[in-house]
Amino acid sequence: MQRLPGSQPFGSAPLAPVVSQPSMLQPYGPPPTSAQVTAQLAGMQISGAVAPAPPPTGLGYGSPTSLVSASGSFPNSDLYGSYAQGQAPPLSLTQSHPGVQPPQRSAPPQASSFTPTAPVGPRMPSMTGPLLSGQGFGGPPMSQPNHVSSPPPQALPPGTQMTGPPGPPPPMHSSQPGYQLQQNGSFGPARGPQPNYGSPYPGAPAFGSQPGPPQPLPPKRLDPDAIPSPQLNELPPQQKTRHRIDPDAIPSPIQVIEDDRNNRGSEPFVTGVRGQVPPLVTTNFLVKDQGNASPRYIRCTSYNIPCTSDMAKQAQVPLAAVIKPLARLPPEEASLYVVDHGESGPLRCNRCKAYMCPFMQFIEGGRRFQCCFCSCINDVPPQYFQHLDHTGKRVDAYDRPELSLGSYEFLATVDYCKNNKFPIPPAFIFMIDVSYNAIRSGLVRLLCEELKSLLDFLPREGGAEESSIRVGFVTYNKVLHFYNVKSSLAQPQMMVVSDVGDMFVPLLDGFLVNVNESRTVITSLLDQIPEMFADTRETETVFAPVIQAGMEALKAAECAGKLFLFHTSLPIAEAPGKLKNRDDRKLINTDKEKTLFQPQTGAYQTLAKECVAQGCCVDLFLFPNQYVDVATLSVVPQLTGGSVYKYACFQVENDQERFLSDLRRDMQKIVGFDAVMRVRTSTGIRAVDFFGAFYMSNTTDVELAGLDGDKTVTVEFKHDDRLNEENGALLQCALLYTSCAGQRRLRIHNLALNCCTQLADLYRNCETDTLINYMAKFAYRGVLNSPVKTVRDTLITQCAQILACYRKNCASPSSAGQLILPECMKLLPVYLNCVLKSDVLQPGAEVTTDDRAYVRQLVTSMDVAETNVFFYPRLLPLTKSPIENTTEPPAVRASEERLSNGDIYLLENGLNLFLWVGASVQQGVVQSLFSVSSFSQITSGLSVLPVLDNPLSKKVRSLIDSLRAQRSRYMKLIVVKQEDKLEMLFKHFLVEDKSLSGGASYVDFLCHMHKEIRQLLS
Ligand SMILES: [Zn+2]
Repeated sequence: MQRLPGSQPFGSAPLAPVVSQPSMLQPYGPPPTSAQVTAQLAGMQISGAVAPAPPPTGLGYGSPTSLVSASGSFPNSDLYGSYAQGQAPPLSLTQSHPGVQPPQRSAPPQASSFTPTAPVGPRMPSMTGPLLSGQGFGGPPMSQPNHVSSPPPQALPPGTQMTGPPGPPPPMHSSQPGYQLQQNGSFGPARGPQPNYGSPYPGAPAFGSQPGPPQPLPPKRLDPDAIPSPQLNELPPQQKTRHRIDPDAIPSPIQVIEDDRNNRGSEPFVTGVRGQVPPLVTTNFLVKDQGNASPRYIRCTSYNIPCTSDMAKQAQVPLAAVIKPLARLPPEEASLYVVDHGESGPLRCNRCKAYMCPFMQFIEGGRRFQCCFCSCINDVPPQYFQHLDHTGKRVDAYDRPELSLGSYEFLATVDYCKNNKFPIPPAFIFMIDVSYNAIRSGLVRLLCEELKSLLDFLPREGGAEESSIRVGFVTYNKVLHFYNVKSSLAQPQMMVVSDVGDMFVPLLDGFLVNVNESRTVITSLLDQIPEMFADTRETETVFAPVIQAGMEALKAAECAGKLFLFHTSLPIAEAPGKLKNRDDRKLINTDKEKTLFQPQTGAYQTLAKECVAQGCCVDLFLFPNQYVDVATLSVVPQLTGGSVYKYACFQVENDQERFLSDLRRDMQKIVGFDAVMRVRTSTGIRAVDFFGAFYMSNTTDVELAGLDGDKTVTVEFKHDDRLNEENGALLQCALLYTSCAGQRRLRIHNLALNCCTQLADLYRNCETDTLINYMAKFAYRGVLNSPVKTVRDTLITQCAQILACYRKNCASPSSAGQLILPECMKLLPVYLNCVLKSDVLQPGAEVTTDDRAYVRQLVTSMDVAETNVFFYPRLLPLTKSPIENTTEPPAVRASEERLSNGDIYLLENGLNLFLWVGASVQQGVVQSLFSVSSFSQITSGLSVLPVLDNPLSKKVRSLIDSLRAQRSRYMKLIVVKQEDKLEMLFKHFLVEDKSLSGGASYVDFLCHMHKEIRQLLS
């Protein structure tokens, strides 16, 4: 971008500021004088209408496309972006499995029971801490990411008209339980009696407090008392783990994932049968909606719910659903029908307001229907009347999505709109920090250049030629600059607001504009912004007033919308929401650790509430060089359904690819605005708790200023009455939102679950990945109110109770000394251990407070696929499979002992991506991938592979592209050499091993779990 003549310092810039308040600004030239004076710009060269090159990302929300330019950038090897180099704890390579003994299999490999024999070594933290009650966690929920398969195109259907039948007749009210699809079901027939069944549950979980003398130890059984129990963090770093458990004999995530792919990946998942457990999130499968919502929209911890609360309390299995209401679908699956019931609006139950769905029962020849949620009898309005067939089903059932499908949309009437007015299309406002750091790093220039083309790719609906979304621009440091980009202007105009304590929007007309109409003015503005502030010395920034300004602008325009904030530093300038640096690592592992996660001031909650009322969603892109207090700055994004991105120590040459990829994807996302979500349930259970990025002003309505296709809302259910096996349990999630073209709609998802009177049925129909998603969110919210150790202990206790209950009631009584895990939950210990040793719950020395706060809020709205790979990363060997084999290589377990020093591996967890190179890798491989002749010449920390014309190079680069395309955030590559300093970062992700921060190895944790379970059973 060339610098325009006379545009150096702000004062002499062609774009003269129009000041509405006496400016407190020093460096920007002449002191402003009068208010509201419009200064026309002079002397600007306008390059005319721009024909922007399309950004690499395709229409809609294509995969984040990499710019794999051979820019040869060198990373600062950050993970979330900020591991300071050289701060890492000393690396002890001898910690994890030095004393592995020959395998001593104690259980047949096909069963999930095995007897760990007397491990000696570190133990898990003891379990003496107070139990957390679910109610005790009250903090604000958090935000963000993705989905498994390839980039799907349209998410929101065009105004599809309902003509033909949407599909073959599904078995709608089948009471047939869905066991037949259950894979790996190797259960003993023995179902123990249900102790305490029907009796009141004691307030605290019963197992731990059960009195009774310990029983004599049978032979072969793990003796818990033989295991010393120091806190893991108290262990000397060199303490060796000696175990005699064959790692191959304990449940393997890789095996479970592969089995599910083989067993369930080839057939479509048809949703017609109640209570079916879907394939795992790691399996690629198609879904056919025959009356229940696709697992892409809703996944449950269990598809078979205990009939009574006593049973549920006994099992301690959380009953929760992870709901992604606007999930994107793969291209092969039909997008949702939009049903128009005309002026009368969608048909609902008069009492509970549930929407018409396939589970409603038509009676009296079709003149009435009985609500499946509350049993109320409702009249069928004359225009909706239809005859019933001999089975009692309406003859038009298969012509109507709301009578035959699990998911569909209704057009909303004006009654569903704010102030009884149909909404106008939403707006996007770009708010760019132009303080010294933002200018110096090259961020402002990069961003302005990118926006010029990216504005052509705003979200569109259906076949619309152009987006209905209007745009506006603000820059700021400790004052705000608004820009008039009205199409009739020859040049943009700037207006400065320096009274940040009482924010108002200085211009209405010309602030929010249509991109095509104002293209010339916008392009001119984006050309000028980097020049105008090129010489700034202003280092201080404000933050809350920026959000306030954006929100006020939307309010003035009477529309919903999204703010894109690009921000660099702790807002220390005198203004509302001013923050101080309160980072204090000494608080870690103290009772005050929770304050690190709590917002520093209540001002942001108040602001967020105003934003939600306006339908103003905030996406925050952070570019910090030091502590910025992510815990406080992310409050508004979290409560408004927005996203937070963090690029620590941002430098254009190293980080532009990652930032631009994320920005492109984020801006093109389909978003629902000004949304309210309600989950209704049939009698017997109700939604009691919610996790995610949203705001709640009452106990039932989840308010989302914005909701995109990556975000989930997790809902926990509790019994309030007895359920019965015949009726099962029903969920209906209704999302009212404004589409990106301004159409008000309701999206409905229905799901029917089974109910059981036998605990074995519960354990047979659980989904561990969803369970872990819920437990991680529960724990990550818990750190706001309880010491981290207490949170960890609570997780361990709950997991032990779940497994002990199974052992007591469902497993064969003959194998007293064995650890027996339910088939569906055999990975619960390994995955739970990963949650326990994650950066939020057990940080290493290199993990900053901001990193922890960032991850905490990311996880809170992750879907099940994302938490799965986030907590247990994928490790792919690259040279084992034949080079012509283009499919993804089978993964190996995340443990150092699975690495061969003659191979190369990719490791990814959805946020980070490593390429690990073994020290003895063949020279030919080194040459093919890195274009150097030996291992020693490979640059450690490299983030871009050279583009070489050979099969291996092509294969690896295309695999990297494909991994990136599967994730909602761009994963920057870090090349790590074996035995190199950077290897420590990589080893952090080998989650089956003991971690440097004191996290237990999988084997040790399993032994600990076994001991806990045995204590509960004794
Ligand atoms: Zn009802």
